[in-house]
Amino acid sequence: MIYVPSRMGQLNRRALLRQLQKLGVASRAELAKSLGMSQPTAGKIVDELLVSGVLEELVLPDDNGAESVMRGRPGRKLRLNRSRSRLLAIQLGLQETAVAGLSLGISDEDQWHVSFSLDPDGDSPAKTWEGQLRTAARKIGGKDFLGVLLSVPGIVDETENRILFSPNLHWTEKTDLASIVRRVWNVPVLIVQEERALALGHHLAAPGSDDFLLVDFGEGVGGAIIMDGKPLANPLPISGEIGHTPVLGNQRRCGCGSVGCMETLVSLRGLLESFSAAQRGARNSWAGLQRHISQKGIPAWLAQSLDAAAVSIAGALNVLGLRRVVITGSLTELPSAVCAHLSQAIQNGSMWAKFGTVECVAAPRRRTAGLVAIGIEQLIVPDTNEISPKTPTTARRQTAAVKYNRS
Ligand SMILES: [Zn+2]
Repeated sequence: MIYVPSRMGQLNRRALLRQLQKLGVASRAELAKSLGMSQPTAGKIVDELLVSGVLEELVLPDDNGAESVMRGRPGRKLRLNRSRSRLLAIQLGLQETAVAGLSLGISDEDQWHVSFSLDPDGDSPAKTWEGQLRTAARKIGGKDFLGVLLSVPGIVDETENRILFSPNLHWTEKTDLASIVRRVWNVPVLIVQEERALALGHHLAAPGSDDFLLVDFGEGVGGAIIMDGKPLANPLPISGEIGHTPVLGNQRRCGCGSVGCMETLVSLRGLLESFSAAQRGARNSWAGLQRHISQKGIPAWLAQSLDAAAVSIAGALNVLGLRRVVITGSLTELPSAVCAHLSQAIQNGSMWAKFGTVECVAAPRRRTAGLVAIGIEQLIVPDTNEISPKTPTTARRQTAAVKYNRS
């Protein structure tokens, strides 16, 4: 069910759900107090959200340690519904697509239920992808999803629900992915930039850190910025594109059309390419690289690549005025000396480290938690001012402050 109440009522609902995401579990009274809302107002919202299955009431573990879910008793604790999958998440990767039904109460590391691979250079990838989604839909079953969150790489205009440019997945630029997904599930579809989802998920898991740059290392290298607890708002639908900073002397071609981009050195493929070049004859597997580093330490080529990544990251910190970096993805799977080296190199380049401290932490990917946060805000309690009544299936995103001209 999607609510269409008054704007004020909707803002109160949003505030209450946001608070519950932060707190995890809370009573009606605790919610009302922490939000500065009257108890009857908070209670009324809670009752409505219980009826629609957005919230559930929780009986805390009894003496036997058993936990159960029930409704209707005052003084009971509340949480976002974890008993049912209400949203569907899809992560579109370079080759692999992962799908998961998500409960609204999710806050932990990613767990995908179904995945399949697609050759991005094969014939009509869009058509093949649609077929594979149908198979995934049969496996996941006929759940009553409120919407689909589709996480994608590249430069995404979330307001228009489309991909403008995708260095490593060019076929998605000319494809209406949202329509494909809607043909399979027939519910609203939101396209979300993948690093933005990661940053929101991390923010939910670590609510104390309201300002950070998240950099994810995987098939590409991308970033996202949280400032004052919110994703950075900027005029163009592009930010955090840290992987496409050129590295002097690097001759590798990048999917974006440039030569020498940082991600050609530190993406999964870039790392393995360097590894096999350095170890002539060695198998260039990820496990082999992990073993090599644990046995012999960080090789010179890797130190140089990490230093190059750190230059871009430190530059971003200096420009944005941030002192916290969150690293997710493949680098965190390598021995901890790798992130420690990167962290030291970031310190070396950042001005704040000269007289203060710069924090660099490795964290798990919490993309699904970020997607749920977006789903709650835009599908379950959308700001009614942002939604055009004529297009109920297309949630309108926050309009960029300045419209860009793509011509
Ligand atoms: Zn590039």
